[in-house]
Amino acid sequence: MIRIGVLAIQGDFAAHARAVGRIGANAIEVRRANDVASLDGLIIPGGETTTMLKFIEEEDLAAPIADFARARRPIFGTCAGAILLAREVYNPAQASLGLIDIVVERNGYGRQVDSFIAEVETSIEGGPLEAVFIRAPRIRRIGPEVKVIARLNDEPVLVRGGNILAATFHPELTEDLRAHSLFVEMIRSFDRSVATPCIA
Ligand code: GLN
Repeated sequence: MIRIGVLAIQGDFAAHARAVGRIGANAIEVRRANDVASLDGLIIPGGETTTMLKFIEEEDLAAPIADFARARRPIFGTCAGAILLAREVYNPAQASLGLIDIVVERNGYGRQVDSFIAEVETSIEGGPLEAVFIRAPRIRRIGPEVKVIARLNDEPVLVRGGNILAATFHPELTEDLRAHSLFVEMIRSFDRSVATPCIA
């Protein structure tokens, strides 16, 4: 069975673990650097990026996550997770892992409408996707290699750059599991195309 790690610092990792279970993969809670290398995929959930960054630093998690990405293993960041994966973050500027070529504005919808649900257009089969945005970031720029998989009003909200998938919304909070299923597909196609195991 596919083993998907869910970074379990704070926030809604339990909802991601349930979503992973519902699509037939095994969810593993990740808290320590040693937990990362043996996974097939890693989810970085929503939460508060400042808290998450502090934990990542304290537990020396940045290097194992970067190694995991370099080994072409799939990583899925949602909301705060997408912010952590971005190349550049502003409002305010803060450190990030720089694993996908996107520029992200934190809390990009402002305080007035900080949380909302919207139907977003997607290239994933099955029509528009219901998306829950909670103090969501906005993807303000994407690199040439990054593909847009879903948009809200012409703005990217789900993007893929190589083995990295990033959503500004919370796909784990709806019944529609197509974003998680896409992530599992990325993991499966990795397994088919690469013979060497993940670097330890
Ligand atoms: N606004 C949060 C941050 O910038 C992210 C919000 C979320 O993950 N729901 O850290």
